[in-house]
Amino acid sequence: MTETLAAPAAPQLAPLPQSRHLATSIPGPRSLALHAERQAHVTDGFGVALPVFVDRADGGILQDVDGNRIIDFASGIAVTSIGASHAGVRERVARQLERFTHTCFMVTEYESFTQVAKWLNEHVPGAFDKRTALFSTGAEAVENAVKIARSATGRDKVLVFDEAYHGRSLLTMAMTAKVSPYKLNFGPFPAEVVRTSSANPLRSPAAAQGPEAVTAAALADVEATLAEHGPEEFAAMVIEPIQGEGGFVVPAPGFLAGLRAIADRHGIVLVLDEIQAGMGRTGTLFASEHEGVAGDLTLSAKALADGVPLSAVTGRADLMNAVHPGGLGGTYAGNPLACEAALAVFEAFEDGSLLANARSIEAAAREALAPLAEETDVVAEFRGRGAMLAVEFADRGTLAPRADLAKAVSERCHAQGVLTLTCGTHGNIIRLLPPLVIGPHLLADGLRVLRKAILAVAAESAAAVSNTAVSNAV
Ligand SMILES: *Cc1c(COP(=O)(O)O)cnc(C)c1O
Repeated sequence: MTETLAAPAAPQLAPLPQSRHLATSIPGPRSLALHAERQAHVTDGFGVALPVFVDRADGGILQDVDGNRIIDFASGIAVTSIGASHAGVRERVARQLERFTHTCFMVTEYESFTQVAKWLNEHVPGAFDKRTALFSTGAEAVENAVKIARSATGRDKVLVFDEAYHGRSLLTMAMTAKVSPYKLNFGPFPAEVVRTSSANPLRSPAAAQGPEAVTAAALADVEATLAEHGPEEFAAMVIEPIQGEGGFVVPAPGFLAGLRAIADRHGIVLVLDEIQAGMGRTGTLFASEHEGVAGDLTLSAKALADGVPLSAVTGRADLMNAVHPGGLGGTYAGNPLACEAALAVFEAFEDGSLLANARSIEAAAREALAPLAEETDVVAEFRGRGAMLAVEFADRGTLAPRADLAKAVSERCHAQGVLTLTCGTHGNIIRLLPPLVIGPHLLADGLRVLRKAILAVAAESAAAVSNTAVSNAV
């Protein structure tokens, strides 16, 4: 007899309503109970932005176990860009689940790995012959880019930038700028990582002279740092084309092109970490397209497979093939479920509508939030590209960072059923990363809640300032 295994019938869930709904306070009683249980079993080393337990998620909505529907301005940190249960992803992953979950690409091969590599080679900027290596996490992609650059150049050093974020493994912690919480108590770190200036248009010492001066000053710092440490010793410079955890900093125009020229002059591999800003987030497939710059190696992860762990290093074939056979890999690298999810993501981007959505999200958010820089004394800047947007809180004039206000605004939004995240070296920035599939009404509702929260917190802050003034005068 031929043995067969019966396939269980797939349960059909009703579509998740795309509207905000408060059934209980947030977090509700079930979430609170589950969180208490979690604390009994899970390390305290993991933080949490909003302690609600999710039951379902799709489009722009997270539905929690208490029946609250929360507007998702986080996308699991820029991951679920096409929705957290996209039909195409579900279908492809389900079909793959029926066939096999894993072989290890270093043991026996499967076609989807090649197809993901082929798509990335065709779509990552750079008019040259490319190869791709797949891994599982963003940090792994960063580490492997450094391995590849060192192997290809025979050099050791890695240049990184102020406010950079590259991950939580030992090498990528060394490359990350911010100490708390990422690096605190976890050293010593690998050597040969050298940090230099980024081109932050708001906070550069040259900011008052305008963006061109910011670019010129930062590039001069880069040259000075290289001269000090020996440019011929650098294998790679690694930069986020728009910084993520460091504060959604869009570098001043011309900075990336300037780095490209410096890298070429010194034979340094330019690595663009597009892990957060790539895969359509900013309204182009890759954020570096806004600046017309191609990296020698380009890194993808986060939104690449809509939440199934997958990362990639894509770049010049001569560099990618400089590594000895067997030098790259990983048990789960390019897992077949993740590759199928990535192919569904690529299909979702085919007609260009998701990129158009990213640009519409920017337009709506800009209209709602950009005026706050004039309307309040504590919004220093609204910035970003596409659906990667941020509001920075700082006192007018001094630009003293106001993490307290970012936190207060986030708390108000959370209580109202809008999930926002903070970021930045000083924690004084609220970032918006809505899924690219969020509908215009849901987006408008979330932006209205956020705008009201900012106005209320700004008014409280202004009242506190004038109270202090009054009591000082008495
Ligand atoms: C998230 C992130 C990483 C690390 O990715 P993990 O999957 O968390 O390891 C690296 N670089 C950037 C720019 C990121 O945003």
